[in-house]
Amino acid sequence: MNHWVQHLRGLMTLVVADACPLCGRPAANDFCSACQRQVQTCALPPAVSKVKADGYALFAWGRYGDALKRAIAALKYDKRLELARPLGYRMADAWLATPSLPKQLVVVPIPLHVSKQQQRGFNQAEQLAIHFCDQTRLPLARQGLTRHLETTAQFGLSATERLRNLEHAFSVGSAFAKQRPQHPVLLLDDIYTTGATIRAATQALRRQGIRVWGAAVLAQAMMERSP
Ligand SMILES: [Zn+2]
Repeated sequence: MNHWVQHLRGLMTLVVADACPLCGRPAANDFCSACQRQVQTCALPPAVSKVKADGYALFAWGRYGDALKRAIAALKYDKRLELARPLGYRMADAWLATPSLPKQLVVVPIPLHVSKQQQRGFNQAEQLAIHFCDQTRLPLARQGLTRHLETTAQFGLSATERLRNLEHAFSVGSAFAKQRPQHPVLLLDDIYTTGATIRAATQALRRQGIRVWGAAVLAQAMMERSP
């Protein structure tokens, strides 16, 4: 009898198995086993955390490329919102495995401009932050920052142009309008490219006397060195 129950359960699992959000094959977990492996190969060692010249620390889960790049594109452009949980959890696991990180931080997701968020229906950084905070138990301040200027697309701009484009794009949001956070801020974003976004967000908070420890990102683009 037990054997048949087990057999039935096995069949049920096959029937209800979701499609892998990256390749469409049946997936018992968040990804199929092949994509699971491919996403995992993008992971950086959890000890990576370096202070940049601007005075903030950077924590990156993985390098931006291959399966991780496809996963982020699926989340943002195909609106596969279910990807935010496994990706946010991966960030959290690595964060918790990294030694000597501060224990008391307030997580602030990098906001989208309101029109862009309406168009997309969600902010991917906020979605990642929800699951990151769920696992790390760090408090989340969704409205820590506001993005109040429509900035032109960052793609194809130089680092200087990006920074100029973003310089006044952020201001302190409603979460901190009445009371400043008690602990330093950990910014959270999906992709780190030149650092212009994080720098601009950091400056906006620091201008108002809010401490910023650094940023946690899902994927860091590895800059190719110019010849
Ligand atoms: Zn797959």
